[in-house]
This record gives sequence, structure tokens and C-alpha cells, in this order.
Amino acid sequence: MAFLDDGPDAVAAFLSGSDRFVLTGHSPLDGDGLGSALGLCRSLRLLGKTAHVVSAAPVPSNLRWLPGAADVFVWTPGAYASHPGLADPQALLCFDSGDTVRLGGPYDELPRTAAVVNVDHHVTNTRYGVLNWVDEEAPSVGEMVFRLLRARGLPVDADVALPLYLSLVEDTGRFSYSNTTPAALRAAADLVEAGARPEVVTNHLFRNEDLGTMRLRARCVERLQTAAGGRLATTYVTWADLEELGLLDGEQGREMVEVAVGLEGTDVGILFRGLRAGEGTKVSCRSKTDFDVAAVCTARGGGGHKKAAGCTVHDDDLARVRAALTAEVAAGLERHPRP
Ligand code: 5GP
Ligand code: MN
Repeated sequence: MAFLDDGPDAVAAFLSGSDRFVLTGHSPLDGDGLGSALGLCRSLRLLGKTAHVVSAAPVPSNLRWLPGAADVFVWTPGAYASHPGLADPQALLCFDSGDTVRLGGPYDELPRTAAVVNVDHHVTNTRYGVLNWVDEEAPSVGEMVFRLLRARGLPVDADVALPLYLSLVEDTGRFSYSNTTPAALRAAADLVEAGARPEVVTNHLFRNEDLGTMRLRARCVERLQTAAGGRLATTYVTWADLEELGLLDGEQGREMVEVAVGLEGTDVGILFRGLRAGEGTKVSCRSKTDFDVAAVCTARGGGGHKKAAGCTVHDDDLARVRAALTAEVAAGLERHPRP
């Protein structure tokens, strides 16, 4: 489906004409959603505007070091009425969220007088905003925010630059996926020039793994299974793993999809994660070729990008979900020529 989006100029004009903003992303916030929100929030505050980042769930522990992360307001019901900084917002700015399902209270309770502004890069975006700026080619939403700030000459200090830089590191896989475009690298260079320090991100995100997560990785390696002659690899994480290893904070386990897609010879890797009892099974897919995993996930109510997508299957029987998806993707790969 083709959409006529409002685009960056309409969003920039709206920002300059308004004074009170609430910023959020899908829950739990990841490096792109949170980085985009923190970067723009700081820039709006430097302009003297009122802006607060809110989140339906606590900020994941591996992102709490970001400038401004300690001030993120973790949603409590009724907060638009009870929290003075959130009173009478003119807009809820939503980043990196393809739909409204995972926005939670900040979206569900938004006063009707406030506009929803949707800034995103997912192909599956549902255009849920009053204003929609969706750039499917953008490497990260933080890069879109940076482009907007630069085009309008808005403030970019080191504390604006660092979270926006982080959004690029996260969504490009440390500048390694196919979305590592010249524009992504130019934005990164400009953000480093503006004060973002790459080694700060590296030391916090990639040289800071707790022992529980390392042990979880070992389990995921042990559990690897292949199908389609080795072109598909799958592994899994149970809720009991997270409990045993003390990993119940945030989205631990999500990155274990890299164990599957990292195996040599694979075109596609899938991670299955058992959620709380009754909440089903989270599926994360990665593709190294042009095999489209967004299509697989969209068919199950999820979405994402062609090469990175996810969905939640409402079935707690992880083994059954794994068997069904494995059969379907393996059959798809048999029909799909090897690159
Ligand atoms: P991940 O596998 O890291 O959770 O997500 C990969 C990509 O798919 C991300 O862009 C993420 O936003 C998207 N995604 C993951 N799960 C869902 C889902 O349940 N619904 C939608 N619409 N997108 C999802
Ligand atoms: Mn993103």
C-alpha cells in the first residue's frame, strides 16, 4: 500500500509551532526509540520548550547510562493529570514504533486535544499519527531526527548527539548490516563531530555483558537446530532461563537471535522466546539474503523490516511454535533460490 506521508517539513513546522511535548517509543524502549526520543527531547529543551520522555516500561538496564535516561518517566496510570510536567501536552511524539500496540499508557491515555506524531522507518508502519513521517530507507529513526535538526539548524550538543549516534549503532548492527548506507556513515561522522564518543557506546553496550547473559548465550548455542539443509537455524530462550539466570529486567535474550543467524551457511536465523505464562511466544527473525522475514511476521500480526522482523504468537507451547515456523520458513527457503 502506498501512503502519502506528511514528511519532515510538516513535522519540523509542528515542532516549531508547539511548546509542550511528550516523547515515547514502543515498549520496552530500545536504542533507536529511546535514542531518538532522548536526542530530540534535549534539543527541544535547549530551545526552551517543555519536553519529557515517557515509557510504558522501565528503561532497559543496558541503556540507563544514556544522558537523560535517568529522567525518563516510567508510566503510571493517570500521569497526564497527576504529573505536572506532563500536563496538557500538545503532542505525543512516537519514535520507531510501527503501530500503537506497544505504546501503552502514554498513547492510550493521551488527552484528545494532543496530536499524535509518528516518526518511524518500519515498512509495516500503520500511519497512526495525525502527522506521519515514515522513511523506510532510513538506517535508524535517530538518523531521521538528526537530519531534521540539521535541516532546521536546531541545537545539537554532545548530549543530543550521543543518543542519536547510539540509534545508528543499534539499528545498523554497529555499522555492519545492509542499511549501513553512505547517509548512515555521514550522519555518524557528523554526530561524532558534534560530541558523540563511539568508545562510550562500545564500552557500555558491548564490553559490559553480565555473566547471566553470557551463560544464556551458551545455552542458545547448545540449542541450535538447523533446517532446509542448513539455510535456517533456530534456537530458543525460555522464561525459566531468564528467571534462573536473573535476567528478567528489560529485553534480555532478544539479541540471542544473532547466535542463530551467526551460524555459517544460514540464510535465516530465528529466535523463539517464551514470555510470561499466558503471553505466548516471541519470535525474532533475521535474514542475510533477500528472503523476506517481514512477510512471515506480518502474517502473524507482527512486522518489522525485510531482514529483521518479529511477532508474538499467542501460544505458550514454544516447541510447537518453533516446529510450525521452522517448517514454514524451511519450505519458503526451498522455493527461494540460494544467493
Ligand atoms: P526484534 O526481533 O529485535 O524484536 O525486532 C526486529 C524488528 O521487527 C524491529 O524493527 C521491531 O520493531 C520489529 N518487530 C519485532 N516484533 C514486532 C511485533 O510484534 N510487531 C511489529 N509490528 N514489529 C515487530
Ligand atoms: Mn529502528
